[in-house]
Amino acid sequence: MEIKVTKTANPKPIPQDESTLGFGLKFTDHMFLMDWYDDKGWTDARIVPYGPIEIDPASTVLHYALEIFEGLKAYRTAEGKIQLFRPYENAKRFNRSAARFSMPEIPEEDFVQAVKALVDVDSEWVPKGFGTSLYIRPFMFADMIDLALHYVKHYRFIIIVSPSGSYYSEGLNPVKIMIEDEDVRAVRGGTGFTKCGGNYAASQRAGDRAMAKGYSQVLWLDGVERKYIEEVGAMNIMFKIDGVVVTPSTAEGSILQGITRKSILELLRHKGIPCEERKVSVDELMDAARTGRLEEAFGCGTAAVISPVGVLAYKDEVYDINGGKIGETSQMLYDTLTGIQWGKLEDEMGWVVPVK
Ligand SMILES: *Cc1c(COP(=O)(O)O)cnc(C)c1O
Repeated sequence: MEIKVTKTANPKPIPQDESTLGFGLKFTDHMFLMDWYDDKGWTDARIVPYGPIEIDPASTVLHYALEIFEGLKAYRTAEGKIQLFRPYENAKRFNRSAARFSMPEIPEEDFVQAVKALVDVDSEWVPKGFGTSLYIRPFMFADMIDLALHYVKHYRFIIIVSPSGSYYSEGLNPVKIMIEDEDVRAVRGGTGFTKCGGNYAASQRAGDRAMAKGYSQVLWLDGVERKYIEEVGAMNIMFKIDGVVVTPSTAEGSILQGITRKSILELLRHKGIPCEERKVSVDELMDAARTGRLEEAFGCGTAAVISPVGVLAYKDEVYDINGGKIGETSQMLYDTLTGIQWGKLEDEMGWVVPVK
């Protein structure tokens, strides 16, 4: 794929104080765009100065939410090399999401090439500290001026990148989560397995309610029986029960197939630590919590890597997990994954891809 690069004439100052970066708040000098037309396919791949895009008020995406996205990071190693973590997995998942919405797919090589090219143009924006990264947000949406939603003839694909601070600037503090028993996020046959804006829209109310009660996230139950554990807001969930790491199976299609989740399962199997992907009922989980067999619980995803759960609530029951502290398996997984991502540990699994 040929990418036309137009550099900005007015570069912004690169933030020097990495402790104030936050997450997804600041954006670099450039962005990647390309368009898809039904008669041309993907065309006009370009990197241009970052800035607002023009969108017609009748545009499909604003009315019918035809939008999907991805999330990955570029990491700077202590030697100054810039690398990605399993970007082909993001490309594959993007295409699985696209297929669900009848959107055009992007060849994996082109997806990764676009990510690399943009990170390379803005490479000075990749922060330096351990735990900091350049967050990469590819997304695609339908852009037709036609309120009757017919076959979509124009899609836009854009990548923006954002220097982000360490998720754990104040240490790996366990979070409080609440099992949601009213709203559901996804159903069998729906869009739960995709990374789409609509899933987040459907989650917003329960998230706000949980916040108001002092919890930071909700843990979703399945949308059919409200009996089986699915995942957290934007993370997959894992439990250590009686020494075995257990995580809900993604076979039903209502849970997002996280790349962090997949990597953790591969690491556990590689290290010979017992783990299971299967249905986990809320009854089983609460029984394990009640009887002290729930040794650890943690969310996992690109943003936080591992997010230990210190408090778990369901209806009127509230339990502390591992005394509200991070457990040894969670800590080991955090150290191993971040070690590979930031280049402190040897990449035995072959997961790291240099930007150039
Ligand atoms: C992105 C996401 C995850 C985590 O996926 P990773 O590939 O590990 O970042 C989990 N659940 C939802 C709903 C997500 O959107």
